[in-house]
Amino acid sequence: MSATSIDALIRARWMITVENDGEVLENHALAIKDGKIAAVLSPADAAQAAAHAAVVHTLDTHVLMPGLINLHGHSAMTLLRGYADDLALMDWLNNHIWPAEGKHVSDAFVYDGTLIAMAEMIRGGTTTINDMYFHHGAVARAGIASGMRTFVGCSILEFPTAYGQNADDYIEKALAERRAFLGEDRVDFVLAPHAPYTVADDTFKKVITLAEEEDMLVHCHIHETGFEVADSVTQHHQRPLARLKQLGLLSPRLTAAHMVHLSDDEIELAARYGVNVAHNPASNMKLASGIAPVAKMLAAGVNVGIGTDGAASNNKLDMLAETRLAALLAKVGTLEPTAVPAATAIRMATLNGAKALGIDDKVGSIKAGKQADVIAIDLSALETAPVFDPVSHVVYAAGREQVSHVWVDGQCLMAGRQLETLNTNDLLGRAEDWRARIQARTA
Ligand SMILES: [Zn+2]
Repeated sequence: MSATSIDALIRARWMITVENDGEVLENHALAIKDGKIAAVLSPADAAQAAAHAAVVHTLDTHVLMPGLINLHGHSAMTLLRGYADDLALMDWLNNHIWPAEGKHVSDAFVYDGTLIAMAEMIRGGTTTINDMYFHHGAVARAGIASGMRTFVGCSILEFPTAYGQNADDYIEKALAERRAFLGEDRVDFVLAPHAPYTVADDTFKKVITLAEEEDMLVHCHIHETGFEVADSVTQHHQRPLARLKQLGLLSPRLTAAHMVHLSDDEIELAARYGVNVAHNPASNMKLASGIAPVAKMLAAGVNVGIGTDGAASNNKLDMLAETRLAALLAKVGTLEPTAVPAATAIRMATLNGAKALGIDDKVGSIKAGKQADVIAIDLSALETAPVFDPVSHVVYAAGREQVSHVWVDGQCLMAGRQLETLNTNDLLGRAEDWRARIQARTA
């Protein structure tokens, strides 16, 4: 490593690379150059490199790890956080969330709500979001402003909303916005047919053809509730997954959010077709959707990542908390305390998410040549003392308030709890403005 070749050197007490499950490097450092991890340095090499790097971050009480990847969210719904709680999914959607969205959702709503979500996510160590909502241009602009790696999922439904008239209209808008943001490094567009119960066969077929022609990913809610499965049997004489298989939707392009209600055969089917799953434990618990068979899916070879879902059904966009819940809920679901150990939960929240999004060659673990999407968590707090195993603490003991630094492509988005790209007070003002507007129209 020559004297002037490092943009930044990050020295950390511990480093979880996620390259090998449970591996922790002590007193190592990352050399960052042009947004990439140029090298993972041993303690001796780190001391030498420190004298020559342009910037040195010395994180003596911290664990450095890959940024968290939120594999399923609806960012703009932060503006409906706490608006309707303690209801069943279909009642919550039909009688509360969809009517409120119909009245309020606009470019400004989505831009402000997404920015607020991104500020919260960065403060919690999330560097990538796989979103699904409307007003895609506003989501993309918020992603660029925040610096987060943003997958803009373009919702596709059969019925009209404030944003679109019908499936063709939603698809047209998705493609137009995608063209408008081509060349933005951290922004990508994803086709997001909402769910089997809101999308018709012909539309799914169009989505599959388009995804292949345009080389796009697909993001869809699948097998979230028992109601959804039963309703499909009544309407289509098939369970949703069987119907989607027949239509051709199952492939490594697909990230299926939830996958709670699955038979062993369906788990096998998901594994065989390379379907990725976004597990959302808090949302599944809050809406009483059920317990996803995560341990079984992992054992079958299904790639399972972790998501928060939207702030109206969680109500936190806290990936550390979600990772903890994923580890705990898997144990409850199987009555097996060895299910989803801490190292597996961390891999789900990082590298598995990257794999689902087709960027595991670029991010998701700490390795020379990957982009520098990394976070630091300060374990010096009373709540995480003493430290026997940082892997255990990250999953079971640390809180998101202990996330101290966040980098994406080597760009610092947060240092010492201070956001570098977004202004917290400005965002608080916007949140309060929207609360006043939403309450005035509901009253
Ligand atoms: Zn969702």
